[in-house]
Amino acid sequence: MERYTGKKIYEGIAIGKIAYLGKKEQVVERKHTEDSEGEKKRYEAAREEAISQLRALYTKTKEEIGEADAEIFDVHAMMLEDDGYNDSVFNIIEAQKMNAEYAVAVTGDNFAETFASMDDEYFKARSVDVKDISERVIRILTGESEASVDASVPSILVADDLTPSETVQLDKSKILAFVTRKGSSNSHTAILARTMNIPAIINIDVNESWNGKTGILDSDKNIFIVDPDEATMKIYEALLDEQNQKKLLLQELKGKPTETKSGKSIMLYANVGNLSDIASALQYDAGGIGLFRSEFIYLGKETYPTEEEQFAIYRKAAELMAGKKVIIRTLDIGADKQCDYFELGHEENPAMGFRAIRICLKRPEVFKTQLRALFRAAAYGNICIMYPMITSMSEMSQIKKIVAEVKAELDEQGVPYKDAPQGVMIETPAAAVITDLLAKEVDFFSIGTNDLTQYTLAIDRQNAALDDFCDTHHEAVLRLIKMTVDNAHAAGIWAGICGELAADTSLTETFLSMGVDELSVAPPSVLKVRKIVRDCD
Ligand code: PEP
Ligand code: MG
Repeated sequence: MERYTGKKIYEGIAIGKIAYLGKKEQVVERKHTEDSEGEKKRYEAAREEAISQLRALYTKTKEEIGEADAEIFDVHAMMLEDDGYNDSVFNIIEAQKMNAEYAVAVTGDNFAETFASMDDEYFKARSVDVKDISERVIRILTGESEASVDASVPSILVADDLTPSETVQLDKSKILAFVTRKGSSNSHTAILARTMNIPAIINIDVNESWNGKTGILDSDKNIFIVDPDEATMKIYEALLDEQNQKKLLLQELKGKPTETKSGKSIMLYANVGNLSDIASALQYDAGGIGLFRSEFIYLGKETYPTEEEQFAIYRKAAELMAGKKVIIRTLDIGADKQCDYFELGHEENPAMGFRAIRICLKRPEVFKTQLRALFRAAAYGNICIMYPMITSMSEMSQIKKIVAEVKAELDEQGVPYKDAPQGVMIETPAAAVITDLLAKEVDFFSIGTNDLTQYTLAIDRQNAALDDFCDTHHEAVLRLIKMTVDNAHAAGIWAGICGELAADTSLTETFLSMGVDELSVAPPSVLKVRKIVRDCD
């Protein structure tokens, strides 16, 4: 029995046969050739074939997982259309008189290295993508087949790393868990594990010799066991049984109301970052979307998303939720969510800097594009608009002025749209303290406890070294929540919580007694919270 420690990406226990995703090390021959024109033609043909494969992968992913996850293949196709990449390949073929495979391999390595050394998480992650596309072109040039997993029964997938294209081509019904050496919490493996609700772990020193052996993944404890002994197997079989029982019990709560024994009900919604999370929200029977973090649309791109692009996404969200509430938060970038094309510049204190609504108010053209898309999409369902990082009444009046201008422009242009309820996030102490005033200006409040806690306790939420000081149940935060709910009710509007605290089941009863009207949590937490609410008196 061997035991390895890694880092949890998604919770849970899995027991099964290990299927190692074998990737043959791509050995690229370095050949000298005078036929540069011939090599350039070979590269062009392979590049075109790669682009058409990527287009097919885009369609498959869009259908099976969702548009947001499919976009990565659009990015890949775009990389293959990039002049810098192609010029580099041509240069190596021509100037060094090398074969196409070698030129692609060197170009891929150089680009991957450049991306990896960038001081930006988004670009760092593109390093894997550029390797992925280069390997694809080389495979086409050499006629090699793609790496595949040999799993006739549902198995624990073990791999060094999973590229986006490998992940999407896997037969999902055959995967019990993911175990990889590389990856990050934002990697595709992580996204897929979350969407599929299967345990996953990274930073494990994987080994091909494990293929076919039995494995146990306990991602809650960050461990992966290969070849477990009988006693360990027994313990984990019992734990797995327990986990499955719990899952089954929770499944029984689908379709049931989220109400206490005495009949007090609460709206139980889901937080999402893209369209595929909406599929997951529906799967877990969320009553609506309490927080659609629209900034992920901006973060996944290299330039501003257009009104049409945004409209298509918001409309799809509204349609998928078929009349249920979809609360879309306007752009919340800045601080930990940086978007290079916004050119925000360096700040000493980004969490308290130029972010969220502050950017939108200073750059009304960006804000207006999003608002136009939102009001247009509102005609296709039950969209609500929510503004982040509010601190003052003056911000509210500036927002109202811009919203009025947007509606007047749409009217003038004869563009169809629908009015939508508008609310604010209460995530700064300033906003919480003036909720009596804000409540007169908006239709609802949603308390962002992640930022509210950060600003109330003066604890940078990005700084793990402060974990010991971060009391998420601090009386100051709880009082601000209560004050917000009371002021909302006094003005006849509703108040919910969409920060992580909403899923903290040790507080569910407290929130119910405060009169919180809505809780919005990650899709897999919906049924867990429903159970606690139904157990309350
Ligand atoms: C919050 O601050 O609680 C919140 C929900 O927003 P985010 O985590 O995206 O800042
Ligand atoms: Mg926030």
